[in-house]
Amino acid sequence: MGYDFDLFVIGGGSGGVRAARVTAALRDKRVGLAEMDRYGGTCVIRGCVPKKLMVFSSDFPSAFTEAVAYGWKLPKANRIDWDLFSKKLNAEVSRLEGIYRNLLKNSGVQTFDQHAKVVDAHTIELESGTQITSKYILLATGGKPDLPDIPGIDNVITSDQIFSLSALPEKLLVVGGGYIACEFSSIFNGFGSSVTQFCRSDTILRGFDIEATSLVATQMKSNGIDLQFGVNVLKIEKEKNGFQVTDSFGRDQYFDQILFATGRTPNSKELQIGSTGLKFGINDEVLVDKYSKSSISSIYAIGDLTNRKQLTPVAIKEAMAFVETVFHKNPTFLDYNCIPTAIFTKPEMGTVGLSEELAVERGPVDIFTTYFKPMKTAFADNADKSFIKLVVCKRTDIVLGVHIVAPGAGEMIQMAAIALSTGATKKDFDNTLPVHPTLSEEIVTMQKPTRSS
Ligand code: NDP
Repeated sequence: MGYDFDLFVIGGGSGGVRAARVTAALRDKRVGLAEMDRYGGTCVIRGCVPKKLMVFSSDFPSAFTEAVAYGWKLPKANRIDWDLFSKKLNAEVSRLEGIYRNLLKNSGVQTFDQHAKVVDAHTIELESGTQITSKYILLATGGKPDLPDIPGIDNVITSDQIFSLSALPEKLLVVGGGYIACEFSSIFNGFGSSVTQFCRSDTILRGFDIEATSLVATQMKSNGIDLQFGVNVLKIEKEKNGFQVTDSFGRDQYFDQILFATGRTPNSKELQIGSTGLKFGINDEVLVDKYSKSSISSIYAIGDLTNRKQLTPVAIKEAMAFVETVFHKNPTFLDYNCIPTAIFTKPEMGTVGLSEELAVERGPVDIFTTYFKPMKTAFADNADKSFIKLVVCKRTDIVLGVHIVAPGAGEMIQMAAIALSTGATKKDFDNTLPVHPTLSEEIVTMQKPTRSS
């Protein structure tokens, strides 16, 4: 049977765009893509990219302080010109969106700026009512912020709105203890806002190596963030210029902006017309096998919609594995065991592989740790310590995990991830010449385990 397309992608984020343009570059493949919003998805429009630019911007006040300690005479650093920065940030996001559109156009993908839904195994319906057929359908509609049901929740913002604030908040409440909450607490603390962060459990970044996250939490507090554990929001009331928040201790506090970062949920509600046979999991994710194939053999799903690992590079790899599996007839899947990631808090954290806690559950390990004051910040009388931990299998000597809390930890962990993905042993680390003087030389110079289990 002749179809309109060989592949139709719903969702123009990192994963969907990659799958569409790589497939369109193949001979004789007709590819369509529908996106109801701006091209680039969460990462480019309201996630990683504008967030990282905010990280850079919010880092300048501490760089100014350091510069003075290094002997520089500076004019007194004032507040950020929020209007100027915001406009530039939005212009950059628009520029990147244009690049995404051009990438699709130049690779021959036919785009539809509309919402689209699955009708059956080979049919999509656009918002306009037009029906399109395709041999394969790829669902890549991503995710969206998940908000708890509490009185006054309509008054809060999420990461979707944080990039378009008209003014820098003076008193910001951040709720949550995950990536987004911790990153934005650090960012707005850097910008000079007074930041309070409510974390319902007794730790930030739950699931990561506890020694590493504890150090991040300690330093976030010493940077001036009022990080509170075991506390949640009970209700929010709108006031003249802000909001009154009642917390689970019964305290009332005033904030002029409230950011909720309490997890994200797959964008799966408006995905189909009636019941198509697609199967969903308990978090509304599209259920797929390891090749990203859904319960319908011609429909695949990738990225945050499948709730496997909500990270841009994972969605892109899943897209590439999908193209390899379906269009090159070479079944390919992702190994989710060795995913490096960075959390752009201040201090930054980079991590790959097993935490000490998980590794200990699986067998005996040697733990190598080092705490040290980096040369650059120590010279500027900054007492903050950096931290590196290696988790090593006692039986095989293979390095199972690397955890870094340090300036540039995200850059360092990328390199460590190469070693881990090739199964490097501690001996391989020991045999590697250090680069001196750097922070990262500590990764290969730790001699004796701090503890063993
Ligand atoms: P996370 O899942 O990382 O964290 C959610 C946080 O919210 C947890 O601390 C959780 O607490 C808390 N929480 C959940 N429900 C409630 C509630 N009802 N009341 C109060 N607190 C609650 O989600 P994020 O929203 O921070 O980020 C979503 C995903 O986006 C991340 O998992 C990550 O994959 C991705 N991301 C990646 C980034 C990067 O690569 N640098 C940056 C930003 C996002 P508890 O721990 O107790 O469950």
